[in-house]
Amino acid sequence: MKRDRVMADARIMNGRELASIVRKQIKAVISQANVRAPKLVVVLVGNHPASLTYVKAKERAGLEIGLNVELVHLSENITPIELKRVILAINHDSSVDGAIIQLPLPSHLQANECLNWLDPKKDVDGLSALNLGKLVNGDASGLLPCTPKGIVRILKHYQIETKGKLVTIIGRSTIVGRPLSILLSHSAWGGHATVTLAHSHSADLIHLCSQADILICAAGSAKLIRSEFIKPNATVIDVGIHKLADNTLCGDVDFASAKEQAGLITPVPGGVGPMTVAMLLQNCMLAWKRHFGLAIDDEEIL
Ligand code: NAD
Repeated sequence: MKRDRVMADARIMNGRELASIVRKQIKAVISQANVRAPKLVVVLVGNHPASLTYVKAKERAGLEIGLNVELVHLSENITPIELKRVILAINHDSSVDGAIIQLPLPSHLQANECLNWLDPKKDVDGLSALNLGKLVNGDASGLLPCTPKGIVRILKHYQIETKGKLVTIIGRSTIVGRPLSILLSHSAWGGHATVTLAHSHSADLIHLCSQADILICAAGSAKLIRSEFIKPNATVIDVGIHKLADNTLCGDVDFASAKEQAGLITPVPGGVGPMTVAMLLQNCMLAWKRHFGLAIDDEEIL
């Protein structure tokens, strides 16, 4: 079902531009507030090279918009008890509004256990059991995971209707695919979509994808998705990030092939990645607003 040759390439959904708008809004709110600036603590265990890059990017993005950011860089060999002590100190520090524990953690530390030590009110990655439970319950008093939240924000910004649509998400991880499948299907979050959550054991991936009005790829497999996976004019969101041998970046979608078939598509870089960082900053602002009882816009929740 290739599109007619005269049809134009897909329209690009510019996550970098949208993230910049969101950051400016947050910066304006912080600069006009009559309480202290929000503070974000980033906990990094060990020296995982990609994590170091991500942590620096988050620190830079936070400082740029007037957030107070502290990096707590801990030894690779820290014991669970020592790490718990650090997290509990963050919980008790009233000058801290938000904190994240950069993943992945070294293999002797259980990520789920560590994430649950964090005060859910400060869990700005939205990955603690309580915040994930609130997501499932449609309870807006929690904090939502940043990548799914950023993807919903992109869809809203580009006025992509999800109600009654077929959405296929490839990848069922706790940080992307699974929470996103709940957000997009839940009535409380306004998604109302019919969601297929595909994963490495799914049969006939091409069939599952080519039915979708909205295809979201978070498999972590470079250029997995080509034009034959895409329904003509579908919306394609690419979550994957891969560094190629020539040091350029690509996503889970073969962009050159997919853009001939899709109606709208996010690029890599410049799509979901910047929105994930923007949503982290927004969650931090939200935690800070709740701490000081400041007015909250619905858009800041989702
Ligand atoms: P993960 O490895 O935890 O999960 C991958 C999921 O994809 C699994 O559920 C697996 O079953 C499924 N999968 C893998 N290969 C598949 C295949 N061939 N067919 C069908 N399903 C398949 O990954 P993750 O942490 O969710 O990340 C996924 C990708 O998104 C990675 O490239 C990661 O770097 C990227 N990522 C980007 C952002 C961002 O902000 N842009 C945020 C998080 C993750």
